[in-house]
Amino acid sequence: MNKVGIYYAYWTHDWDADFVPYIYKVKKLGFDVLEINAGTIAALGADEKKRLKDTAAETGINMSCCIGLPPSSDLASSDITVRQAGINHLNRIGDAMVECGIDRLSGIIYSNWPGSFEDRGVTKQQAWDWSVASMKEAIKKAEDLGLIYNVEVVNRFEQFLMNTADEGVAYVKEVGSTHLKILLDTFHMNIEEDTIGGAIETTGEYLGHLHTGESNRKPPGYGHIPWDEIGASLKKINFQEWVVLEPFLMPGGEVGRDIRVYRDLMPYADLDEEARKACAFTRAFLK
Ligand code: MN
Repeated sequence: MNKVGIYYAYWTHDWDADFVPYIYKVKKLGFDVLEINAGTIAALGADEKKRLKDTAAETGINMSCCIGLPPSSDLASSDITVRQAGINHLNRIGDAMVECGIDRLSGIIYSNWPGSFEDRGVTKQQAWDWSVASMKEAIKKAEDLGLIYNVEVVNRFEQFLMNTADEGVAYVKEVGSTHLKILLDTFHMNIEEDTIGGAIETTGEYLGHLHTGESNRKPPGYGHIPWDEIGASLKKINFQEWVVLEPFLMPGGEVGRDIRVYRDLMPYADLDEEARKACAFTRAFLK
């Protein structure tokens, strides 16, 4: 049975947060997993990392990490010092994950986010080649530490290297490590893929993580994403990994700015109650 989780930033305006209270919150709401920001834990002291690990263990909640790398850590940069800084940053994150008891990292870890193509002055193939070469280095850390890294396929308005499941599979095959897999996200697939079920089946054994949310970034059930089709395709590929909800409802702060939430998507909603309903909805379509 898939573990079901939610991304902490559903509740926050800023990317940095104390994740401990959210471990208790998601436990109370019925989740198995809290997904947290990898950049934040990479900057924590040893005591704070231990506190996170101990709280998760005590509550039985699993944690996963996600990040969109900043331009200073772009693994596809034309500047070799920036690519190396990106590899170093991923290595710091890997070490911090082990200290926190976390075994999987997902997101835009192969370039920067949001990442545009036009100002690079190189071909997409050249940026791709730099990214693949950087990832071949970075993934050694995951292999040494027993971690899984998942590259997130996102829509064209947020990144240019991988917009479809086909491109994600090509990238992972080219890097060629069993520790590198793919994160698909229903919000992004809805924009780019011919069919969402088809994209999941194309990804197949390479699918390591799934983000869910509606076409409008509301919780599942408030848009037109085909949840039954998704459930059937996940079953077809025998997907056993984690499904993490990633709705964003609130404008304001760093999160509202970077996700481009310009209006209150569900005014007067009780966020906790919506999360509880979304968790139950998710378990139902995964059955
Ligand atoms: Mn996502």
